[in-house]
Amino acid sequence: MPSRRRPRRPRRPAVSVLRLGHRAGRDPRLTTHLALAARAFGAERLYLNPPDAELAQRVASVARSWGGTFEVVPAPNWREPISAFPEAVVHLTMYGEPLARLLPRLRRRSRLLVVVGGAKVPGEVYERATWNVAVGHQPHSEVAALAVLLERLLGLPGPGAWRGAARAIVPTARGKRVRTLSGGRRA
Ligand code: SAM
Repeated sequence: MPSRRRPRRPRRPAVSVLRLGHRAGRDPRLTTHLALAARAFGAERLYLNPPDAELAQRVASVARSWGGTFEVVPAPNWREPISAFPEAVVHLTMYGEPLARLLPRLRRRSRLLVVVGGAKVPGEVYERATWNVAVGHQPHSEVAALAVLLERLLGLPGPGAWRGAARAIVPTARGKRVRTLSGGRRA
């Protein structure tokens, strides 16, 4: 008799991101895009070093409209989040080992901290990382590297409203359709 058990969904790690070397006032758009990509592709939080309260508020307002529990957490000392993820730190760098080689090991972890840099990353980060991971071996962008890693690790989120959302997109071939939801947390 065939088993009626539903196939188990593969477990996926809970992912946090640490953004190093944010320059408030100089690259607010880049770091905002990094936070939005982290949220949209399934990370739980972004530790921001150095902190930027305005940016955190802007991202919180997106999360109030579109749902979920993503948050930007101030990280005045970047060593603290790294210490809080022993044996689970993924540092994204073009100098690292290829993502495809490390992916099976990363998928087995229950939680991960993904570290992305800005202009200059302290050498200590390369030493303290559990894995230095390259998304291709050409220089590109922290947003691109993070998005590819999260997609490979967690898959793409499907359509549909996120918990607590005030609105959700209705996928359509042309134009823009947005559903307003009752009970959402308004921005
Ligand atoms: N020389 C830097 C490096 O080590 O990758 C490039 C600096 S880039 C402006 C800023 C950040 O983007 C890097 O700290 C890294 O996190 C990410 N990044 C850029 N290219 C990458 C690649 N090919 N693989 C993984 N991460 C990359």
